[in-house]
Amino acid sequence: MNTDRRKVVLIGTGMVGMSFAYALVNQGGICNELVLIDINKKRAEGEAMDLNHGLAFAKSNMKIYAGDYKDCKDADIIVIAAGVAQKDGETRLDLLQRNAEVFRSIITPVVKSGFDGIFLVATNPVDIMTRITYELSRFGASRVIGTGTSLDTARLRYLLGDYFTVDPRNIHAYVIGEHGDSEFVPVSQVMLATKHVTEIFDNAGNEYCIDDMQRIEEQVRTSAYKIIEAKRATYYGVGMAITRIVKAILGDENSVVTVSAKLCGEYGSRNVFIGVPCIIGRNGVKEILELSLTEEEMNKFKSSVNILDENFNSLNI
Ligand code: NAD
Repeated sequence: MNTDRRKVVLIGTGMVGMSFAYALVNQGGICNELVLIDINKKRAEGEAMDLNHGLAFAKSNMKIYAGDYKDCKDADIIVIAAGVAQKDGETRLDLLQRNAEVFRSIITPVVKSGFDGIFLVATNPVDIMTRITYELSRFGASRVIGTGTSLDTARLRYLLGDYFTVDPRNIHAYVIGEHGDSEFVPVSQVMLATKHVTEIFDNAGNEYCIDDMQRIEEQVRTSAYKIIEAKRATYYGVGMAITRIVKAILGDENSVVTVSAKLCGEYGSRNVFIGVPCIIGRNGVKEILELSLTEEEMNKFKSSVNILDENFNSLNI
């Protein structure tokens, strides 16, 4: 990877893609070249113009332009936020099949360009779309990453920080599993600084109660539905989550983020892409961290794995 020139290609310049691009420009210094690709070329061109006009106010300069697949050749990261929306009467699986076709039309020309970097997928259902990217690209598993439960984990840390009146950065907790209805919080692993929250809940002398933990977990799981009900789509949070992962890769940070990664025996499973805490650096997933789950938590994780496996296997790839 070229460390002096850091080039990111974004495919899909809709709400999610452009929220990421906007966060990238505003945070500054993460990369110095950003290429925008969309099936709607005019839209990509308009977005590039709009972002460029803000550069005079940005922290650092960047080269931003609407491009095409040949621009992927020397990119460090391809971010994919392209997708089609659910049509009336369409099942989730029909949508999945259509998005699989969209991905075929994207991954094939990216690979053909000679691209040799890291794929970062945000399109939903993100765990399956990441696995499709892996299958179609035939890249090594460490170089195919999905946003997984990174956003859900951020939501959890924010809510727990608010509940305990502590900076969310001092809450160490993860949402793991499918980015969807079967995701869950392994409560046994939630820490406030170095203290297990289960100890805080067990202490009868305070106002904190384990039932609140379940309420917070439910709030995290249903956040997307609530936002979609209120404003049709969610995009700022995930845009910032993508930015965080891109920064961890390009900065070779070795930071822990709950991304969708391919299990190779970790948590007793193989082949599936699922949200787990991973060490992320310049070469993508450096290591998958195995949390010490209780038996009940492990059962929840396995059922999430099964859901993802069944969905993937029902596809015609
Ligand atoms: P959007 O409709 O605003 O944007 C999608 C873009 O993809 C459009 O600009 C469209 O022209 C483009 N596109 C469609 N087919 C294409 C193709 N073949 N090649 C190139 N571009 C193509 O949608 P959005 O709100 O930006 O959402 C994008 C995806 O992100 C959805 O799948 C959504 O569910 C997902 N999402 C993920 C998370 C997460 O946490 N991972 C959170 C929110 C949304």
